[in-house]
Amino acid sequence: MWASSTPSIIFVDDDRQLLNSLRDRLRCLRSGWDMRFHDNARDAMADLENSAGAVLVTDWMMPGIDGLSLCKHFTATAHNRQSDAPHYYVILMTGRQGIENIEKALDSGADDFIAKPFDTRELIARIRVGIRTCRLENDLRTANIHLVKQASTDPLTGLLNRRRALEILTTELDRSLRGMQSVAVAMADIDYFKKVNDSLGHEAGDRVLKVAAQRLQAVARRYDAVVRWGGEEFLLICPHAGEDEIRSIAERMRASISANPIETQPGNAPLTITVSIGTTVVAAGEKVTADATVASADRALYAAKDAGRDTVR
Ligand code: GH3
Ligand code: MG
Ligand code: MG
Repeated sequence: MWASSTPSIIFVDDDRQLLNSLRDRLRCLRSGWDMRFHDNARDAMADLENSAGAVLVTDWMMPGIDGLSLCKHFTATAHNRQSDAPHYYVILMTGRQGIENIEKALDSGADDFIAKPFDTRELIARIRVGIRTCRLENDLRTANIHLVKQASTDPLTGLLNRRRALEILTTELDRSLRGMQSVAVAMADIDYFKKVNDSLGHEAGDRVLKVAAQRLQAVARRYDAVVRWGGEEFLLICPHAGEDEIRSIAERMRASISANPIETQPGNAPLTITVSIGTTVVAAGEKVTADATVASADRALYAAKDAGRDTVR
């Protein structure tokens, strides 16, 4: 994210005299801008890599890495960057004249072009376009991060949702198929949850779901995915876990739910609830779909219900 509301403006030119006079004029006219000046592309690149987006104003002809190479570098990496990566806006400045040079600059990935010698006010106006573009990109990026999170999260519990769970499980099963790891899955279902709603109301039921979610999350390992699969069903995806591990994680989950009663509403007596859990393990190299894996955990869950609930199968 931005260190301030205005992105950094990074200048690079091997002509130190021009750089100094630019610095003096700009500091005078635009004292609020966060500006940095470099006399070589390598330093500017290091500065840019560490910044959360910036407007880069670069000279074309420089010894070592020139301005065009800088543009190409950022265009090339832009393809590899994630949609939430910071944005760079590049203005190429040069004494080279002619339409073909403007074409070459813009085709290399520069966003804008300014011919030397230029009036500082024109440069400022062009930089302001860059700032505006960076801000728009930043807003888009923030909105995108928010949307991605929203699309993968259950609003009541804050856990991952079924959609995201299927993506994660598919990825983990792919890894497993390539023989690198086993994957274990546990399906937990709150016992007699309908009674909570029927006796205490839907709000109390929601409160129970939230607390149950927190407790399950608290006992999961760092790399496990804890999911609200549906109503009062929770799915746990555990990469690198075998029979023993998933049994012990599921047992910890079961115990964490029943260990302490849950405060549902002021005035109501705290409520003790239990969960039944079914587990399944996909061995490394085994070819199974995500749906089949979940179905297998579901069958084990039914066995746990049949065995009297509050138990792991
Ligand atoms: P069992 O021990 O066999 O699992 O019985 P159960 O009562 O837990 O299972 P059942 O499937 O009969 O009931 C689940 C209930 O969960 C029914 C539904 O109204 C309730 N439920 C589903 N989603 C929500 C929710 O978001 N909030 C609340 N409060 N209740 C929900
Ligand atoms: Mg239930
Ligand atoms: Mg259920």
